[in-house]
Amino acid sequence: MSPEAARLLLDWYAANRRILPWREDPTPYHVWLSEIMLQQTRVEAVKNYYRRFLETLPDIPALAAAPEEVYLKLWEGLGYYSRVRNLHRAAEKVMADYGGELPHTASALKQLPGIGDYTAAAIASIAYGEPVPAVDGNLLRVYARLALYRDNIKDRKAFLAAHSFYGDAIPAGEAGAFNQALMDLGAMVCLPNAAPRCDVCPLRDHCGAHREGAERSLPVMPEKKERRVVERTVFLIRSGSRTAIQKRPDRGLLAGMYEFPGAEKKLSREEAAAWLKKNGVPALRIRELPFAKHVFTHREWHMTGYEVLVGSADEDRVPYIMAENSEITEQYSVPSAFAAYMKELTV
Ligand code: SF4
Repeated sequence: MSPEAARLLLDWYAANRRILPWREDPTPYHVWLSEIMLQQTRVEAVKNYYRRFLETLPDIPALAAAPEEVYLKLWEGLGYYSRVRNLHRAAEKVMADYGGELPHTASALKQLPGIGDYTAAAIASIAYGEPVPAVDGNLLRVYARLALYRDNIKDRKAFLAAHSFYGDAIPAGEAGAFNQALMDLGAMVCLPNAAPRCDVCPLRDHCGAHREGAERSLPVMPEKKERRVVERTVFLIRSGSRTAIQKRPDRGLLAGMYEFPGAEKKLSREEAAAWLKKNGVPALRIRELPFAKHVFTHREWHMTGYEVLVGSADEDRVPYIMAENSEITEQYSVPSAFAAYMKELTV
């Protein structure tokens, strides 16, 4: 990227930058938290989570000392919970090894759990001014178009090429603004799919794809893998204002969160009754609930649901935690994969 293009980009950013809560007070902790939340989640959705998280855990010492239930609950609905687990583990490490202050360089930041190339560069450049480019999917897309990069954009080779393309262009003392300008360009102008807004782009005279009319065919993406469909059965085992929940295992998908009991396959009504009996649930009545689907990155849950009523005299025999519905919605961290069934608790 030429120095002239970098200057045009920064001027455009000064006039058009997005106003975002974490930009108004870009402490290292704020940048870190926002960048972790923004992985896999849209900016608009992050804003409220970010505010709420900081109200409860305003700094690294508070995060490091927080119990699992607290930080998981604050993350509920954002998904990809390994992000917040790593955030917590990293905070503990920062307390133990760095006296509570995040390290200042991208290479040291990358040693912390959950901080990869992109996040390390974003924190180091925005909070500390280190001249490193923060290359993520947005910047790769913009790079492919600016530099007419026609190979698979998901290859490590593409990342390294983009890294030196941007890295060589960072104007002295403006690393944070430069990276954020590219992020905003990717979010507002050089949009994904076939929607780049070249007519309002400050870099159109420096863009190879625009010059060649190739902006809609770049970047080149690898073929998508099909998502695996996983059939499940979910039971809402209810007695009065209480419903059964259980804790998921400490490892694997949605580790340590709470869920409604169920089976890892689709069960007919008769099979559901047999499953309940085998698992010691004294069911009084079973009612089928609407089908629900949840899409993860690499798999889809197709869920068959049953509401199971248990008589109050038998509630003690239910082999799960019988929690008040209000506690389930307000205190326990239940993944949004179960959102369709959570709604039933408030009916
Ligand atoms: S000119 Fe078009 S394709 Fe090129 S960087 Fe700008 S928006 Fe993207």
